Amino acid sequence: MLELSSAVVVYCVLVAAVFLALWLWYDRRDHRRFELERRKTTFHCIRCGALYSAPPGSEMSPCPKCGHANARLKF
Ligand SMILES: [Zn+2]
Repeated sequence: MLELSSAVVVYCVLVAAVFLALWLWYDRRDHRRFELERRKTTFHCIRCGALYSAPPGSEMSPCPKCGHANARLKF
């Protein structure tokens, strides 16, 4: 009887560890996707006022409407 209850405890701990690992993994993945999304859509043309997006990592990007090179917006 004692062996059975300790087996149940070990099983519960294992299930909890799996759920914790899954939660951490999803949390990290969502955070990374959010960071990528946030970095992608941060260009605003100071000449014509157009809003546009560029691939993440680029500091300068030309405006698709007037061609003016704009710096990345920082929030
Ligand atoms: Zn422009």
